[in-house]
Parts: sequence; C-alpha cells; structure tokens
Amino acid sequence: MRSSWADGTRSIGIAEVGDPEIEQSTDVIVDVHFAAVCGSDLWPYRGLLPGHRAGSTGHEFLGVVSEVGGAVTGLAPGDAVIAPFMYSDGACSACRHDLPSQCEHGGLWGRDGAGAQAERIRVPYADTTLVKLPWAIDEITPERARALLPLADVFATGYHGAVLAGVGPGDVVAVVGDGAVGISAAVGALMQGAARVIVLGENPERLAVAARFGAETLRVSREESGAERLRAAFDDLEVDRVVEAVGMQGAFDTALDVVRVGGSVGFVGVPHAVEPIAPMRLFGKALQLAGGTAPARRYLDEFVAATIAGDLDMSALIDHTYAFDDIAEAYRAMDAGETLKAMLVIR
Ligand SMILES: [Zn+2]
Repeated sequence: MRSSWADGTRSIGIAEVGDPEIEQSTDVIVDVHFAAVCGSDLWPYRGLLPGHRAGSTGHEFLGVVSEVGGAVTGLAPGDAVIAPFMYSDGACSACRHDLPSQCEHGGLWGRDGAGAQAERIRVPYADTTLVKLPWAIDEITPERARALLPLADVFATGYHGAVLAGVGPGDVVAVVGDGAVGISAAVGALMQGAARVIVLGENPERLAVAARFGAETLRVSREESGAERLRAAFDDLEVDRVVEAVGMQGAFDTALDVVRVGGSVGFVGVPHAVEPIAPMRLFGKALQLAGGTAPARRYLDEFVAATIAGDLDMSALIDHTYAFDDIAEAYRAMDAGETLKAMLVIR
C-alpha cells in the first residue's frame, strides 16, 4: 500500500510499504479515506523530534473498517469510522478515570506504530478506540470529512484546555494562541458558558477565523507583553480563566500574567523548552494551573453527535484539501503558515 514517508529534512513523499495485518484479536484494519495534517506532524517533518527516525506520519483519519479481529464485537467490515488521535484499551486505571490519553496500553499513530496518512491502518483496541459514523463511506463527502476530522485531535485539545481551565458560565476567558487549537479552545470555552472569549495571536487571518466563531481578538507580537496589551486594549478587564495553546515560554508568561488573582490556567500546547514554573508564581496569585494531553476519545461521541445535529461545525479549521499525491505541498504550505490545517483525500 501507499503511505506517507518523512525523513526529518522537510521532505515528505509517498512510499510503497507492506499492508498492515491484524496482530491482536482486538484489532481492526481501516481503509483510510481522509486524513488531516496536524501541527504536531510538522515536528518530525522538520526533524525536531529527538530520536525520530524516517517513517510514516499522521494520526487524524476516517475511513471504513475492512477486516476485524476475532474478539471485536462492536464493528464489522463496511462500518465507516473516525478515530481519536490515540488508541486506548478502555480498561486500565487511566481509561476508567476518563483519561484514555494516558492509557497504559495506548499509543499515538505515527509515533507508536505506523502513521495514518496511508491507505490502510491497524487500529488496536478497536471497540474502545473507534467511533462509528452513521453513513456509508461513499456518503462521506470531503465537506463532511472537513467537519469531522478536526474533532479527532485539535478541537478536542482546545476544548480540553477550556475544561482544564475550569471555564464556567459567565467567565471571561483569554486564549493565548491563534492556531487551530487556540481557535478550538475559544469555541470550547463558549460552549462551556463563557461570557466573553478573547483570542490573543499574531496572525490576522487566523484571528478572523476565531472572530467568525464568536471570539473577540487581539493581535499581539512575540516581542511585547500580551498581558499589558490586553489590559490596555480591554480597559483593565479581569480575566477569570486562560487557555495556553502554544507551549512556548512567552505564551506561558502571558497566560500567568493575564489571569486575575484566584483564576485558573489550562495548558494544552505541548511545552517546548519552557522553564520550570516557580511555586511562588502560582502561590502569590492564588492560581490553579492544569495541563495534559486531551482525552479525545472521552469527547468524541458527543462532538460527532453535535456535528451531525448541526450544532457544531469546525470545518473552517481545514482551509485546504489536497490529493494524497500532493502531500509534499500540503506539508510545505502548513510549515510556511500558508495553511491553517490541511486535509488529504487518500482514496
Ligand atoms: Zn487504558
């Protein structure tokens, strides 16, 4: 079969690799029809992941079940399915505590096994990992796929940032970061009852997308204090909750500076070279700080149902669609910041 193949030198193409096979009785094989490119796929593409070898990429996909292992009970060949970005067994302590993202036996496609930007993928623990879609696969148009694929990772991650920040009815929320996760955090905060959400970011086009979803926006540059700019622009507005959706030092500093005394900060940008946070920095302002990988599987049924009902439409996050053969251009455009999020039509 054909699979993406990245060597860590900003070069990606399609390689012929062996077909995946059922290895455990709880596995299924999915024929992938659509796969999205995640901002985190750019790390191995750029060669910035320590120890990363050349290999296949991607962890956001939907397709149709083509083979099932003997112990699979809830899925059959022909079922259209979407996957969260990690597989999970549904049985360990983490899964029982609603954190499938920390599953003892779980993993991330493209890191703990083959990537999903490929014609086929093996899905471990299929019954507890996959979510069945109510359509035949040929009824899933690129337009439907665009609305569904953001739910697999970025939307779940942004939404979880608002959960971690403890957003509740009437809150004033700031989101640091205007990428797909930051925009998703803004939508998540509004769904959780926030009265006002202000997205801080550098990119006017992305801020415009956030505004279309009902957020207020503030354009900031990396060189200035986002907190001071926000206080000046919004008349000393008190910010109850902050979602940090970047994972860089400046974004953490802005998040901790902008939140009011006694407020809370959720962080879902994977921290890259962020300095340790001194306990006094939290103690002095009586802050709560919580972070972690989003348990996308916990939310996925609800998000898919809301999308099917017409109550949620995150398709604006995928602003470019490419044929599988054009994967190099999809990555190049995302790496250059020309594309917010790319979708590949695999078959
Ligand atoms: Zn588990």
